[in-house]
Amino acid sequence: MTSVQEVPAETEVYLLDNYLPVVGAAEIDELRALAQPLEGSPVEMVNSTAVGGGVAEILTRLLPLFRQLGVDAHWRVMEGDLPFFEVTKSFHNALHGEHFQPVPKDFEIFREYNRRNLDLVPADARFVVIHDPQPAALIEARRNHRKNHWIWRCHIDLSRPDSAVWSFLQTYINQYDASIFSSPEYARQLPIPQYLFYPSIDPLSEKNRDLEPEYIESVLENFGIDSRRPILTQISRFDRLKDPLGVIKAYKLVKRYHDCQLVLAGGGATDDPEGAQVLAEVRDAAGNDPDLHVIELPVSAPLEVNALQRASTVIIQKSLREGFGLTVAEGLWKKKPVVASAVGGIPLQVIHKHTGLLTHSIEGTAYQIRFLLSHPEIATRLGEQGHEHVRENFLITGNIKRYLTLFLYLFNS
Ligand code: UDP
Repeated sequence: MTSVQEVPAETEVYLLDNYLPVVGAAEIDELRALAQPLEGSPVEMVNSTAVGGGVAEILTRLLPLFRQLGVDAHWRVMEGDLPFFEVTKSFHNALHGEHFQPVPKDFEIFREYNRRNLDLVPADARFVVIHDPQPAALIEARRNHRKNHWIWRCHIDLSRPDSAVWSFLQTYINQYDASIFSSPEYARQLPIPQYLFYPSIDPLSEKNRDLEPEYIESVLENFGIDSRRPILTQISRFDRLKDPLGVIKAYKLVKRYHDCQLVLAGGGATDDPEGAQVLAEVRDAAGNDPDLHVIELPVSAPLEVNALQRASTVIIQKSLREGFGLTVAEGLWKKKPVVASAVGGIPLQVIHKHTGLLTHSIEGTAYQIRFLLSHPEIATRLGEQGHEHVRENFLITGNIKRYLTLFLYLFNS
């Protein structure tokens, strides 16, 4: 298995100055000032999938901006296949608190695939940011080149991890120089410094930029969705932890009172082997209700996702566990009222009754959706406040600022 593979930067690149109207000149000046001492520094971002899921979404947008700031940033994807991704998906679920009894073979597979990828990170990298557990054991490559700084960026909710999987993983994490988590609640007892970084969305990306109403209408037509009746939407990988079956149950409760439609749209991620099975279960539960649209999206369909979010009356994110939930920030940025579970990083984004509505059950989700459908003026206000909350806290420029600050700190220490 050859493992040196770099993900090309996105073709659709925006200049830093294009962000001026969104974040203001002071923010852009600050980024340039922070980046200046780091000019030419090689930065390596490593994860396990080039498409699908929030991490790939963030890296796709971060890389071109880092480069514009003079940082020599690269994104590399470790190679793996089904046996590895089955193990890492089980680890992922276990770290999110699901019951799992690992056997020694699971750990051996994890180690073996990481070993095969040890050449992934070039020896001259100054900063290496390893995203999530899958490539965590690549820290072993550090033995060959000690001068660089290794950071573990964890995007998942580690507040109640399975102890066997976490103990195993921790032997690697302890060797890093620093760790980054998405919420203060995920902090663990670690011998290395822990930093809090919020994930981010890019307001100028195809996923989030403004769209022509005609384009939005054409996407709805294409999927057979009626733009004149309320549309409830959850965009997510077909994953049990996103609780698509719970969303269907909530929709059925709402449907007794409101003539609405449900859109459950999602694609896969190459490191998530469970998607097809969950999609089949969802289709089965959806039955033949013409107002329930289960849409399988191509691996990359940012404009369609954007259009579906913008066409929605209410955005749902009924996750059972969640690292952060970028789809929530995406919905809020589009000034949509969001009804979402109070799990993981969602309460950082949805401040109850201020930027959206938090729920704890299927019935609660249905209740809040009904409330929003009957109170459109409140729905509008929540959406507008949500938009400002995202502007303040969850935009890509803020994320870059945090990375540059951490790099500078490590550079000087
Ligand atoms: N997404 C997408 N197409 C899909 C499903 C999801 O582009 O079919 C995007 C979604 O818009 C968001 C990211 O993938 O940008 C999902 O990130 P999130 O943090 O919500 O969940 P994760 O999949 O990382 O658990």
